[in-house]
Amino acid sequence: MKFTSLGHASFRVESDGKTVFVDPWLDGPTSPLSVDDVEVADIVLVTHDHGDHGFSEAVKICKKTGAYFVAINELAIKAKEQEGLEHVHTLNIGGSVEIDGVTVTLVQAFHSCGTGAPTGFVVTFSDGSFYHAGDTGMFSSMSLIGELYSPDVALLPIGSYYVMDEEQAALAVHLLNPKHAIPMHYDTFPAIKADPEKFKTLVSKRNPSTSVTVLAPGESVEL
Ligand code: ZN
Repeated sequence: MKFTSLGHASFRVESDGKTVFVDPWLDGPTSPLSVDDVEVADIVLVTHDHGDHGFSEAVKICKKTGAYFVAINELAIKAKEQEGLEHVHTLNIGGSVEIDGVTVTLVQAFHSCGTGAPTGFVVTFSDGSFYHAGDTGMFSSMSLIGELYSPDVALLPIGSYYVMDEEQAALAVHLLNPKHAIPMHYDTFPAIKADPEKFKTLVSKRNPSTSVTVLAPGESVEL
């Protein structure tokens, strides 16, 4: 799997010939891409409707590429009925859908939002899987996500204020026990300033079998 940070909580993940976008806030201040730059997308996932998670850009990407849009029921219905998207999956928490060999599972997040409920995603390709936590505080049933799906890679917010801080995110790594973790949702604006190196150090103490990769916006890693 190739992970490219698009800034904030936004990622492009390519694997097995498929391209998945999660929370594509491409109008955000740290995004290296604009919607105009996106040529290929198969699946676009949005964890919740806060502006910094890219619902409106997701709609544009889906219209442009024909990608499937997946989100919690109420937000996905909005994409279909108000925005006119054709390929939409209206999942709810605990549910999964397979799209061309890629399985997308909607999982809980502890946060707020205007439409539906906040969520995270587990995405499983034939050659690996990842968990994008969305915006969330700490919750102990992350261990169930680890037990059920064994995600290879966990994308976890560390910026505090709206989400987990570095210490909570390191505990989340311990509960999930992924092979790799990538911190997200920090340093985009002053309220969410955080230290990814501190996260890395805390993970090395709490769960040394997990390696942490810090990606600047625009950087990629194969995991
Ligand atoms: Zn949010």
